[in-house]
Amino acid sequence: MGTLQSVIEAIQRDDATFGLSGNASERDGDDASSFWITPSGVPWPEIGPQQLVRLAVTDGSQLEGALRPSTEWRLHRTLYERHPWIGGVVHLHSLYATILSVAQIPVRAVHYQMARVAEEVPIVPYVTFGTEKLASQVAAAISQEQQAVLLANHGLVAVGLSTADAYRACREVEWTAMIQYHAMQVGTLNVLTHAELEAVRQAFKDYGQPSSHSD
Ligand SMILES: [Zn+2]
Repeated sequence: MGTLQSVIEAIQRDDATFGLSGNASERDGDDASSFWITPSGVPWPEIGPQQLVRLAVTDGSQLEGALRPSTEWRLHRTLYERHPWIGGVVHLHSLYATILSVAQIPVRAVHYQMARVAEEVPIVPYVTFGTEKLASQVAAAISQEQQAVLLANHGLVAVGLSTADAYRACREVEWTAMIQYHAMQVGTLNVLTHAELEAVRQAFKDYGQPSSHSD
């Protein structure tokens, strides 16, 4: 099941979302036309492999699992359908990303750490959760250069090559949103330029150990 179960455990360990909110999914490793997603309304500590649900990318029909899928299954399905490179999707109601989504303030590149995810995290206009309209708005805003968006008055969505990758992006955006929020209390934001962020992306290529030592 790839990295989905470890992300589910990380979300509860990190207290990364409010209450029962949020959901996570991963494209199936053997059948790329399907994906596994967390169930609807089950507390994070109670979600194990038996509670996960497998849905078809084409129409969301349920292929495996007894529980009902997350109410945001359309959001996940549409992202997998429109972006074949996406391997994992994570949606959270994390504190600072949600605060900025309510204030209609995009997450800016106030720290270089966000460079891998996006140069700015914009806000998709408010629509009811779980709807086809929300799914298509998010899928249209996401690209390989734009791996996260805020949902107005709602929360955060990030994507990646795996669920672990998408969760890492969520954490980077949430942390940057927190830094931005606090910086706005004491002064004016200095936002990094495209050239500065491009230099960071180049430097990231040499970050860490050679691939044989990485995760
Ligand atoms: Zn939500």
